[in-house]
Amino acid sequence: MRRCSVCLLSEQAPGIAFDRNGVCSYCRQGRPFRPAGEGPLLEMLEAARGRGGRFDCLVPVSGGRDSAYALLKVVRDYGLRALAVNYRNPFTDPLALRNIRRMVDRLGVPLETFALPPGRHQGTLRLLLMAWLRHRSPALVPVICSACHTMWWPILRIAKRHRIPCIVTGRNPYEETSFKRVMLGVAADEDVRNVYLKNLKGILGRVLGNLSYLNIDCLPTLAVGHLFGSPFALGSRMMARGIASIDLFFHVPWDEKQVLARIERELGWRRPGAGDTWRYDCLVSRLRDAMYLSTLGMTEHDDMLSRMVRDGLITRKEALRRLDEENRVDRGTVARVLGRVGLGHMLNELAGPAP
Ligand SMILES: [Zn+2]
Repeated sequence: MRRCSVCLLSEQAPGIAFDRNGVCSYCRQGRPFRPAGEGPLLEMLEAARGRGGRFDCLVPVSGGRDSAYALLKVVRDYGLRALAVNYRNPFTDPLALRNIRRMVDRLGVPLETFALPPGRHQGTLRLLLMAWLRHRSPALVPVICSACHTMWWPILRIAKRHRIPCIVTGRNPYEETSFKRVMLGVAADEDVRNVYLKNLKGILGRVLGNLSYLNIDCLPTLAVGHLFGSPFALGSRMMARGIASIDLFFHVPWDEKQVLARIERELGWRRPGAGDTWRYDCLVSRLRDAMYLSTLGMTEHDDMLSRMVRDGLITRKEALRRLDEENRVDRGTVARVLGRVGLGHMLNELAGPAP
């Protein structure tokens, strides 16, 4: 299989083209990511300090590595009074729940949690997955996570209730996977702030082409998910007036080794026994990997690792080794997720025949 001579992307990546030196179009269009710097970050945090009620900032935590580090930084390094907030996602890895408990205990930070009505998340995933299986469009894989995309609404409500002036997230710039945008007709290097409407247009077009998505039981979740899918989504922007949204790693460099070393040492954070530390916290990530592998032959890992290679965070050789490990279908986890939504019989269709 042909791969780009600079990054890892193969000829399977959507819309890819290679020049005569074997360099891919993603590499030629992509600009290296440069964080804005700690100076502007400190200014924003100082503006929030002491301005609210009991808390200076809210940090959404998933139990994953990047949000754990965001909480550690604002509390230990910047001395802010933080409130940790967690969505009780029914597909959270049990280890992630233990990691959340440990980090808030170590830092002495209050934790507030919220959940969807019982069964709503599972029911939505089941319907969206059934719709996807009718016509397997890799462009619509992210839609199965619509229940989680509704999260900004309750997070903003909690911030308003406590009069918290800012939200600090561990959103990772290397997760801005460009192949998903390309599938929706959005340029790979489009600015994240413009992506929302363009993505929405692309998704709506495809959803209307597969009417099984338009199920009355999941439409409200889809709608709220699109209005509140990110801090840049329309609903979030309207509701968040007066609340600053700060992505830590868009200001300070994301150094994977340092992130892991500090959260392990200072928070007692534990990594999963096998597999990658990235997105281990939600079991549905492994289902998404299987969906991408069965349709595209690649996953979000190809894109993320390629970005890291382009920015010089990792060598191409090391990235290829990791890709080989990370792109194996985690059959056990896929089976667990499918079993919980009553679709266990679809295991072989999604994860391939048993070895
Ligand atoms: Zn490339």
